[in-house]
Amino acid sequence: MARDRLFSSFRRGLAVDLGTANTLVYLQGRGIVLNEPSVVAIDARDGRPLAVGLEAKRMIGRTPAHISAVRPLRDGVIADFEICEKMLGYFIRRVHPSRLSKPEMVICVPSGVTGVEKRAVMDAAEAAGARQAWIIEEPMAAAIGAGLPVHEPTGNMVVDIGGGTTEVAVISMGGIVTSQSVRIAGDELDEAIIQFIKKEYSLALGERTAEEIKIALGSACTLQQEVSAEIRGRDLITGLPKTIVTTTEEIRDAIEEPVAAIVDAVKVTLDKTPPELAADIMEQGIVLTGGGALLHGLDARLAAETGMPIVIADNPLQSVAFGSGQCLEQLGVLSDVLMTSSR
Ligand code: ADP
Ligand code: MG
Repeated sequence: MARDRLFSSFRRGLAVDLGTANTLVYLQGRGIVLNEPSVVAIDARDGRPLAVGLEAKRMIGRTPAHISAVRPLRDGVIADFEICEKMLGYFIRRVHPSRLSKPEMVICVPSGVTGVEKRAVMDAAEAAGARQAWIIEEPMAAAIGAGLPVHEPTGNMVVDIGGGTTEVAVISMGGIVTSQSVRIAGDELDEAIIQFIKKEYSLALGERTAEEIKIALGSACTLQQEVSAEIRGRDLITGLPKTIVTTTEEIRDAIEEPVAAIVDAVKVTLDKTPPELAADIMEQGIVLTGGGALLHGLDARLAAETGMPIVIADNPLQSVAFGSGQCLEQLGVLSDVLMTSSR
């Protein structure tokens, strides 16, 4: 009995949400045990990783010439496979240091990745110690994690807005009926803020400052209380530090284009949804997951433009990891949504 328990604790599987902005790891029987930015700091002289995760993210925009902070999955594709593999291996070893056992692994990748890249991720998982690896598509994991009844013959719509990609999918009876993946998400909003502040105030902002501004001041529709705030950057003319005052209205204008593109992706998918399923969605609502779901007023904006009720998932930043974790816990039940690595 005790031996069985010991054995099963060694056999705990892992579910990994390999996101473009954040990687989360779910440990079977435990829940989410790791949540770190998908960033690796590399020493360009020998290609050695110097830091991974939060520590590496802190280095973005602050590194000397020979160090670069890389986001291996940036645009929803694996931009740098070798670094991606190193990052994955590092995270897995941190939560599963046991050399005695090989865990089963469910890995969730952005749905934009190609078959070759999926294969590569499974190889990386095996190289990092997986006994067997399964791939799950992000929208499916997001929907499961948000608690949608994906196996029922009913229409479920999920919109996952991450760093590099926005995935919109309609799911019914365990399968994706129609989906759309656009490479416009959180990163594009940050970039739009950088461009706006540069043009309007001749001020250079770093990527991380732009993200902080987006989170604090960004919105997708008129706010009850519009506010202004000071932001600091480098004056492009004098080269010196400078502080300017901007407002929530200005930042909303700045990000309007990418926000409209995200809204359009939802509308296009709705257009392609069979009428019965659209009627189900009308009742259940469209569920938002991913960090972008937290943009102020995005739910109200989507509700106004689609006429559908909008629900923000609980803990939207964790839906995908949680959903992948559910697949791991119930491998038998949910195996139809997984792609296995056995050749
Ligand atoms: P991925 O799955 O691609 O790793 P995440 O779901 O982890 O992405 O979401 C990360 C994105 O969400 C980043 O672009 C981040 O700036 C954005 N984000 C996080 N919190 C907020 C917030 N409160 N408001 C707006 N955007 C946010
Ligand atoms: Mg994600």
